[in-house]
Amino acid sequence: MPSMHAYDSELADLIFDYMRERLQLDPVPLDHPGRKDKLDSVLAGLIGPEGHDPHKVLSVYDDHLSQAVISCDSPRFLSFIPAAPTKAALLFDMVVSCASLQGISWLEASGAIAAENQVLRLIADFAGMGPEAGGCFVTGGSAGNLSALVVARDVARMRLGLGPYDRVRIAVSDQAHSSIGNTLRIIGVEPLVVPSDDHRLTGANLRAALAADDSGIPVIAVVATAGTTNAGIIDDLEGVSEIARERDLWFHVDGAYGGAGLFAPSVRGRYAGIEHADSFVVDPHKWLFAPFDCAALVYKNPKLAKAVHTQDASYLDVIHMDTPDEWNPTDYAYHLTRRARGLPLWFSLAVHGTDAYAQAIEAALTLARESAELIRRSPELELIREPELSSVLFRRKGWSAEDYQAWSDRLLAGQIAFVTPTGWNGETVARFAFLHPHTSLAVVEEILATMA
Ligand SMILES: *Cc1c(COP(=O)(O)O)cnc(C)c1O
Repeated sequence: MPSMHAYDSELADLIFDYMRERLQLDPVPLDHPGRKDKLDSVLAGLIGPEGHDPHKVLSVYDDHLSQAVISCDSPRFLSFIPAAPTKAALLFDMVVSCASLQGISWLEASGAIAAENQVLRLIADFAGMGPEAGGCFVTGGSAGNLSALVVARDVARMRLGLGPYDRVRIAVSDQAHSSIGNTLRIIGVEPLVVPSDDHRLTGANLRAALAADDSGIPVIAVVATAGTTNAGIIDDLEGVSEIARERDLWFHVDGAYGGAGLFAPSVRGRYAGIEHADSFVVDPHKWLFAPFDCAALVYKNPKLAKAVHTQDASYLDVIHMDTPDEWNPTDYAYHLTRRARGLPLWFSLAVHGTDAYAQAIEAALTLARESAELIRRSPELELIREPELSSVLFRRKGWSAEDYQAWSDRLLAGQIAFVTPTGWNGETVARFAFLHPHTSLAVVEEILATMA
């Protein structure tokens, strides 16, 4: 075995061959959840003072570990939010790894950061956030929401002359993503929960909730969702943004899942008002076909974010050269060291062009509409609501929560699909989350046939 930092052509061939095979799987098999006792016994003794033959270790991964992972890039994975990274993005992710690209500062990584910023610019332009908009890529929507709302909080406390521990609140819909609730707990900000109108946050309800509030604790921001994860509902961004401007509230838009719809002409109109967002998050690792983990965080006025997030440490002084071109991604979120995780998306966008992205996103939207039509025509099924984006909620008449779970288990055991039940107004129902452009209507028909 050569030194572990020396190039080993046999090891390289082993891994590259494996990657070639994985990239060519068509379709990717769904596979199954693992059993802890089995996995433990496979892993037992594998890491100790002496190393092992890489062929042996890779076969542990290939034969046991990888098969105990349900493949979220399978076109039959229709639970939660699936993934469908492009081959170009996946391959370039390996380049990012092999080149040890990090993305902290302009001083160290200007080439990588310039390319990431080209993508952030594109996203800001699709949203219409204005010429100054910018930000950085973070690990996910949760990290993006957290970083943005820290800026909202601190900017407001400065503006209102409040101290770092004074109470402030942020208005959120009762349908906001769980990461928003987590964020508020982490940053010590209380929610003003605004009741939604048919699961949608509206300007009218926000106005009423603010008017009814007599707590005396200032509300400093509002969070809208551009595509709820469960049902794909886009809040009344126009109405909410109007009140945000009237009341000087920071307007944050969580588009982790649905933000990709900005690229799709058939639904773009539903995002009207997003151009007023002070901060906006979209997860390319969801519906913009990038590998994990990748979320774009964009601020209308990034200078405010920089004032809040810049880390002060004497050894970091050199990265803050304060030249006009300098852009340090580390200054726009709570992180320091970061992978240049925007580059796989940059490469894929440059290779394929934005039209190909629009088409791939439209494919999921079309499939959602066609599936809704199939459900409407099935006497034993009921469509719960017209899909706004690519998620479809429906019920099988007469089924209990146990029936849905047993059905879901059968589908996975038969490798037909991974479709987990979800909750809707306290009821257990079925849900499809479409995203992979290779999920066909035939797969949907096959699944629906199992519900007869
Ligand atoms: C997925 C999602 C999140 C969380 O994003 P992660 O990338 O999983 O951290 C936040 N908000 C919404 C609306 C989401 O769909």
